[in-house]
Amino acid sequence: MEGENSGRIFVALDTTDLDAAREICRAVSGHVGGVKLGKEFFTALGPQGVTAIGGLGLPLFLDLKFHDIPNTVAGAVTSALALGPFMLNVHAAGGVAMMRAAAKAARSSPGRRPLVLGVTVLTSLDEADLTAAGIEASPLDQVKRLAGLAQESGLDGVVCSGAEIEPLRAQCGVNFKLVVPGIRPDWAAAGDQKRILTPGEAVARGADFLVIGRPITAADDPGEAASRIAAEMADAG
Ligand code: C5P
Repeated sequence: MEGENSGRIFVALDTTDLDAAREICRAVSGHVGGVKLGKEFFTALGPQGVTAIGGLGLPLFLDLKFHDIPNTVAGAVTSALALGPFMLNVHAAGGVAMMRAAAKAARSSPGRRPLVLGVTVLTSLDEADLTAAGIEASPLDQVKRLAGLAQESGLDGVVCSGAEIEPLRAQCGVNFKLVVPGIRPDWAAAGDQKRILTPGEAVARGADFLVIGRPITAADDPGEAASRIAAEMADAG
C-alpha cells in the first residue's frame, strides 16, 4: 500500500532540461508529494522554469539555500512566494536574525505560507572542515546547535542526514519537520551517496519528508519506482 507515504516523497529534479523535468513530473504525479528544484535548475531555467513545473500541479520544494544579510534574505523569500512553493530553505549559519527575517517574510504570504527549513551543516563537510573554519565542534553537535537556533527563530524544520534524524527528533520534538536526502532503496545504485538509508529506515527513524533523486528519475518507470518506495515506507511505518 502506497497510502499517505507517497506524500512524503519529494523527487529531486537535478537537471537543466525543462522537458525532461516535465516528463518526470508527469510520470510521478499521484505517486509522490512533490518535486525539489535546486540551484542547477533555477540558475539555468529561472523563475519561469519553476512556474512551468509548478503549473503541472505538484507541490514544490524550492531548494535555493538562501544565505545573506537578513534584509536580502527576506526579499528573496518574498520573491520566492510568487512561485508558490510548499517548502523553501535558508542556511541556518546565516544567524538568528536572518532566519527570523525569512520566517517573517514567509508569514506575509497572501496564500498558503511555505514551510521554511534550515540547512545546518552540509554533508560534504567533515570535522576537519569545521575545524579549519574555526568551529570546534563535531558535525553532529554543530547540526544540533544550528537546528536549535533554527527552531528558536521560528523555522519549521531542517534538512538533515539520516544519521541526524533521531537526535534531532529527540531535541526538537514531533512538530519540527525533518527533511532527509541520501535515500537509497535496496534495489537502487548508491551512486555518489555514501551514508545512505533505505526509505523504510528513514521513516522508522522519524523523517517527515524524503528527498529522492536518481532512484526515481533514472528508473525505467519513475512512477513505478516512486510507488514501490512509498509501499516500502508503509511497510516500515
Ligand atoms: O539523486 P539523489 O537521490 O542522490 O539526490 C539527492 C538530492 O538531495 C540532490 O538534489 C542533492 O543535491 C540533495 N542533497 C543531498 N545531500 C544533502 C543535501 C542535499 O543529496 N546532504
